[in-house]
Amino acid sequence: MDKLTALKTYFGHSAFRPGQEKMVDALLAGRDALGVMPTGAGKSVCYQLPAMLLPGVTIVVSPLISLMQDQVAALEQSGLPAACINSTQSLEEQMEALNGTRLGYYKILYVAPERLLARGFSAACRKMDISLVVVDEAHCVSQWGQDFRPGYLDIAAFVRQLPRRPAVGAFTATATQQVKEDILRLLALQNPLQVTTGFNRPNLYFEVARPPGKDAYLMEQLGKRRDQSGIVYCSTRRNVESVYELLQAAGLPVARYHAGLPDWERRENQQDFIHDRARIMVATNAFGMGIDKSNVNYVIHYNMPLDLESYYQEAGRAGRDGSPADCILLYSAEDVNIARFLLEHSEDNERLTALERFQVNRRDKQRLAWMVDYCKTSSCLRSFMLSYFGETEMPLCENCGNCLGDYNEVDITVQAQKILSCVVRAERHLGCQPGRSRCVQILRGSRDSQLLEQRLDTLSTYGILDEPEQQIYAYLAVLEAQGYLSAAQGELALTSAAWQVLRGRARVMMRQRRVRLLRKKAAGPVDPALYEVLRQLRMGLARQAGVPGYAVFSDAALREISATRPRSEEEFLQISGVGEAKLRRYGAAFLKAIEEYTKK
Ligand code: ADP
Repeated sequence: MDKLTALKTYFGHSAFRPGQEKMVDALLAGRDALGVMPTGAGKSVCYQLPAMLLPGVTIVVSPLISLMQDQVAALEQSGLPAACINSTQSLEEQMEALNGTRLGYYKILYVAPERLLARGFSAACRKMDISLVVVDEAHCVSQWGQDFRPGYLDIAAFVRQLPRRPAVGAFTATATQQVKEDILRLLALQNPLQVTTGFNRPNLYFEVARPPGKDAYLMEQLGKRRDQSGIVYCSTRRNVESVYELLQAAGLPVARYHAGLPDWERRENQQDFIHDRARIMVATNAFGMGIDKSNVNYVIHYNMPLDLESYYQEAGRAGRDGSPADCILLYSAEDVNIARFLLEHSEDNERLTALERFQVNRRDKQRLAWMVDYCKTSSCLRSFMLSYFGETEMPLCENCGNCLGDYNEVDITVQAQKILSCVVRAERHLGCQPGRSRCVQILRGSRDSQLLEQRLDTLSTYGILDEPEQQIYAYLAVLEAQGYLSAAQGELALTSAAWQVLRGRARVMMRQRRVRLLRKKAAGPVDPALYEVLRQLRMGLARQAGVPGYAVFSDAALREISATRPRSEEEFLQISGVGEAKLRRYGAAFLKAIEEYTKK
């Protein structure tokens, strides 16, 4: 079978995406290869297709045991015999997987890196005909990144002890030069083909919001996305818990995930999300690596991440099937404090020397500074990120908050001075730091009884800012975002930079939106009623097969089916994402549903 036929038969795609064909060709020819491709670019095809066409077995090293089962189940749906071996299985199951692989029944075998050098496993591998070793999430081998996994350092030794050296294919979505060099060196890749595809994901909409209250804003955003699936990332476990409680109290179908939960609960919550039983996942960055749920419609960051690499990777989990999806970051100045705290208290990697640790720390701080700049820029967010990743050709964006919002910059130095001096005076008068609402009340000259009791109406800043409450909150948000005010636990305090403003040495500018241009609306299904019928059908079939809905058909495929209404098997095969196995398995049911719907 040639590669194009295989692409259609097994994966249902009629053409390769950028970079895929080169990777496939290299691996088929037995050459090592490194693919640096953003999430959603289609890395799986790059190694699963060669795995099907090569004579021997493909071993896939993957970081997360909990996801292997899903990957294997999804492959089975496409008619690709695969197995995995991990510590949660009984000895009998492990033997079954090894035997089936040795006999050539399974073409793809997933393992965690820690297993590679286990005696039983490596001995069994030496007896197999291995054509290809694939390293998924290859950046885990680098000690520079957040995801370092010592077990990845064993991969090179594993390959070396095989009687015949197979091709090694490494894949990552992390683009920094340092990590790339580490991958090449530590995996001992030999003359590898290197493919880096563009990092632009045109279907993703990016926005940075600075709402005065994140909870209210989050609820509003989720309210607009009632029937969609999405992830809310928080920077700490505590935030995960409080946001989780907020959403649960509002009756939303939500699950949570962070390293503080017991294994079983994490696994269960993850499954609930993948199988669409919980539409919203609230999580720390511990969640998501290796998750290939293709129908994530939005990713909201409740807190700013530590660097743009993490942000792009996490946000990129939205819209993997190519459908329009939203990536929204909620920013406040407090996030910068949390981020600094997290950097200072991050676990030191013991394998690094003191000098290396110093370098890592320095680089972390630089990366954080870029992250903050992203949150504050008023130019195109997409261009900002792509140029950070080293891309020089900028696409026409028109799909980010800054390109679509029409802004002008207003000088708010005078208002800022009034606010800052109010904070200083209130603090002196009260002997403690005032909260936001108290300051707003003073500035607007409120007759609140407690305020009068505390004689705050005697301050010289009482009633000096005659503007709507919301507007003053917006000024406060700007002052916090730009680092003039800190608001730990909601208590306001001036930073040293604020004195420059009070002394008239620095100006404060605020971006104001003139009009809101119309967003490119998420392409809804052409026929929503039919789409819903097909979605229900998919849910039923997925449940029967014990796989997530997207493993049957992606949302994008469902949309195409409901738009084109195929009437025969040939027409059904034309849908992107429908291959031979899926046609055989689900074709009849879908064709029947379409026919019944059309008759009605
Ligand atoms: P990655 O691992 O790079 O994040 P995946 O391998 O999960 O990405 O693929 C992302 C999505 O792209 C999947 O829904 C997959 O079906 C789709 N896809 C991959 N290759 C193609 C292709 N050549 N044509 C159309 N869709 C594709």
